[in-house]
Amino acid sequence: MTKLAFIGAGNMNGAILSGLVNKGFNPQNIIVANPSAPKREALSEQYGVLHTSSNIEAVAFADYVILGVKPHLIAQVCQEIATETAIENKCFVSVAAGCTIEQIQQALNGQYPVIRVMPNTPSQLGYGVSGLYASIDVSENQKQQTAEFMKSVGIIKWLNTEAEIDHIIAVSGSAPAYFFLFMEAMQNKAIALGFTEQESRELVQQTALGAAQMVINNDLPISQLRKNVTSKGGTTQAALTTLIDGGLEQLVTNAMDSALHRAKEMA
Ligand code: NAD
Repeated sequence: MTKLAFIGAGNMNGAILSGLVNKGFNPQNIIVANPSAPKREALSEQYGVLHTSSNIEAVAFADYVILGVKPHLIAQVCQEIATETAIENKCFVSVAAGCTIEQIQQALNGQYPVIRVMPNTPSQLGYGVSGLYASIDVSENQKQQTAEFMKSVGIIKWLNTEAEIDHIIAVSGSAPAYFFLFMEAMQNKAIALGFTEQESRELVQQTALGAAQMVINNDLPISQLRKNVTSKGGTTQAALTTLIDGGLEQLVTNAMDSALHRAKEMA
């Protein structure tokens, strides 16, 4: 049976781990390592997974090592693992933004199989999007297994080049916050119109959910869905004209370019 070691008991690793256990992965085949006890103990209590303060012990246990520490700690953790335990036949899965496969292999001191995964925060609820890119050292079986792990928290997309990891950051990794900002602005205006904070939130969140569901449940292009709800001379058209004339499309493009630029800078 495949065994997994989660290095870091933070938000992203916690999301993937919970998704796996909720989908029926045996928690006794999962170990989570974190230096401080409270987070790993909480995951262990909630999901029945094993836990340890030792990255070495966790890696020794597993076939797949999910590197879920902050990007600036990835090299340090990889060096620690590589010098203190046997890592042959293990596959490394890194969710860290801005750490390249080359950097990870250098820190591991060898051409070990490394898969980069770029998930986003809705993974916590099973509605995530993950971009995956595998080094040439990864076997077909390791690719398939990693794809299955990530499918437990949302949809996946295999990328053709490592550079596309930065594209995924701009399109989906950073993007939940774009929608939050839009919803926040709508909520603020709803409050200004006299709705309570709670009422405004409910109106905005249900509208966002409804719009997303309409896109999901329809084969029409998104632009056509928009046209279908925009009567000539009506209220929706008045609102959309203001957004379009105000440069919304260009702003969104610029924002995504900024995320892309920052992702490249961090690499
Ligand atoms: P987090 O701070 O919630 O989790 C990091 C965890 O690592 C913490 O629990 C910390 O105690 C632990 N840790 C610190 N040093 C350690 C060590 N030496 N060994 C083992 N564990 C150690 O951070 P996060 O938001 O979960 O992000 C983790 C990684 O996921 C980052 O590299 C980030 O780029 C990536 N990521 C996060 C998101 C997101 O939306 N949160 C999205 C995509 C990618």
